[in-house]
Amino acid sequence: MWYITRLKIIFEKKVIVDLHSHTTASDGILTPTELVKRATDNQINMLAITDHDTIKGLPEAKETIVRENLPVKLIYGVEISTIWKNSEIHIVGLNVDIENSQLLELLLAQEKGRIDRAISISEKLAKVNIHDAYQQAQQYSKGDIVSRAHFARFLVANGYVKDMKRAFKKYLGKGGYAYVPANCCGIADAINAIHSAGGQAVLAHPSRYDLTLTKLKLLISEFKTFGGDAIEVSQSRQTQDDLQKLAKLANEFELLASQGSDFHDLVNYLDLGKTTPLPGSVTPIWHDWV
Ligand code: AMP
Ligand code: MN
Ligand code: MN
Ligand code: MN
Repeated sequence: MWYITRLKIIFEKKVIVDLHSHTTASDGILTPTELVKRATDNQINMLAITDHDTIKGLPEAKETIVRENLPVKLIYGVEISTIWKNSEIHIVGLNVDIENSQLLELLLAQEKGRIDRAISISEKLAKVNIHDAYQQAQQYSKGDIVSRAHFARFLVANGYVKDMKRAFKKYLGKGGYAYVPANCCGIADAINAIHSAGGQAVLAHPSRYDLTLTKLKLLISEFKTFGGDAIEVSQSRQTQDDLQKLAKLANEFELLASQGSDFHDLVNYLDLGKTTPLPGSVTPIWHDWV
């Protein structure tokens, strides 16, 4: 009967899935090569790299997996910044064709919008006597994307604030001295570009937008109307209650469920693959992936 036990072990083997992560192509701290190696160390079976407004880390990640024959399936992803009723909402695209022209056009516009925003942030910082911030933030960015996380790292490294959280509170976040609203597309534009590239659109970390339940439901319902496919149910920095609430919302709006660590670094996020598994009540977005 040993083979029955063996079969049971094979079928019960947990599949580890992480569908949200960042590399140095945006504001993660690991290069694409280091990230896929860490995913392998953490025994992840399926990993999506979802850098902010760029797909430029993906070819290196793929090359490393092929060259080193790593046992991880790479999902081509992207996390697109959008604006919805004054809130910055992130839409993750999964299984996108990274040569699709509509997606590439949108990402190019997003990249330009980020440069304009970074210049405005820098001008505001100069008014409080923090000079050359744009050039400094660029030193912290190893790719083409400049994010407020790069400004925050510069502010921390130079002693203006103690940590990233304070950098956002005092300078970069809403209400901060150097806050500048994002210069990006709308939710429908992001969903359309993802679909045009053959991917699925996921509403990222729904609980991190500081919305009331009523407003969150409005967001999810508009996301669904625009053709959105899934919401992240299991993510970093989350209580069990929150996970259950999101699982209910996924079912209420007939959306698939996704999960991802949003790994950037080990200080502010969970490690790769360490999110709580999805509850049995939801349908995982990968249920019909081959
Ligand atoms: P941006 O895409 O330029 O608006 O920058 C937002 C990025 O800054 C997020 O993707 C996070 O990586 C980072 N971030 C935002 N708020 C915080 C915070 N309170 N502490 C640390 N990092 C943050
Ligand atoms: Mn980030
Ligand atoms: Mn995000
Ligand atoms: Mn993210």
